[in-house]
Amino acid sequence: MLLISDEKTLSREIDSLRKSGKLINFIPTMGNLHLGHSSLFKKSDNTDEIRVVSIFVNPLQFNDDKDFNNYPRTIESDKKKLLAEGVDVLFLPDAQIIKVVKFALRLGHIGRKLCGIDRSGHFEGVAKIILKFLDLIKPDFITLGEKDYQQLLVIKKIIKDLKIKTKVKSCPTVRDKDGIALSSRNKLLGKKIFLARYIPTVLKQITLEINEGSFELQRLNYFRDYLEKSGIDRVHYLEILNENNLFSISKLPCMSRVFIAISIEGVRLIDNMRIESKLACSSNGILNVSPK
Ligand code: AMP
Repeated sequence: MLLISDEKTLSREIDSLRKSGKLINFIPTMGNLHLGHSSLFKKSDNTDEIRVVSIFVNPLQFNDDKDFNNYPRTIESDKKKLLAEGVDVLFLPDAQIIKVVKFALRLGHIGRKLCGIDRSGHFEGVAKIILKFLDLIKPDFITLGEKDYQQLLVIKKIIKDLKIKTKVKSCPTVRDKDGIALSSRNKLLGKKIFLARYIPTVLKQITLEINEGSFELQRLNYFRDYLEKSGIDRVHYLEILNENNLFSISKLPCMSRVFIAISIEGVRLIDNMRIESKLACSSNGILNVSPK
């Protein structure tokens, strides 16, 4: 595995790897690697691909210094995991990389919804560093997790808007045995991790009720109250939105997802679940909630 910190070396090495005729697959991370990250490396485990992983805790996407400082950093064990996965290149940029990222970005509606409401500048920070990486690596693919679904949409949008040739691959969320989405932040919860189990429980219950045809959107208020009474400090949002554009829905259509963000003792957790409806969708995408 090539270990590179310098931008020019990265571009040069990638150019020479590309000459082998193999496609370049880029997987950006903030490190503290777990099985959710591994699923991204595995999905792209194709002999015709060169896998380039970055580890960078990007200050531009944190709007809280405490959150940035507390973010788990485990670089030595991460390197071992990447070696075991057979990753070709690990890019560990210097903190200076953000100094050159000075341009304004308009993410529109997708950047303003959900986490965009109370994490001002977060997605702009994500988009800026990803654009910088895409410019250096010029990958054929970028592989991202559905765990950060809004981030996935933001990156798809900038790639489309700026006519970048990189194709986006996405991987489903990897969960632990209790259904909790794996996240580097989970270990910050200590014993309070049991509270995180309410997240998949509520997401599954909502999708179940939708499939039973008994769900009204106002019912989300009940689940918000239920979560806050269960000991979770704050429910930042619990919403069902169109999964392609994050527009609100008045009826329950196909192609929607339920999105959640909560805080437990100052640790913010996000998750989402696709509404895999067993009910019939009409041609205009509206779900028939009373099919009998
Ligand atoms: P992070 O290191 O948290 O910035 O995540 C790096 C990439 O891994 C992003 O594309 C995430 O969506 C993805 N990822 C993080 N957790 C999971 C998970 N539990 N399942 C699948 N992908 C994940």
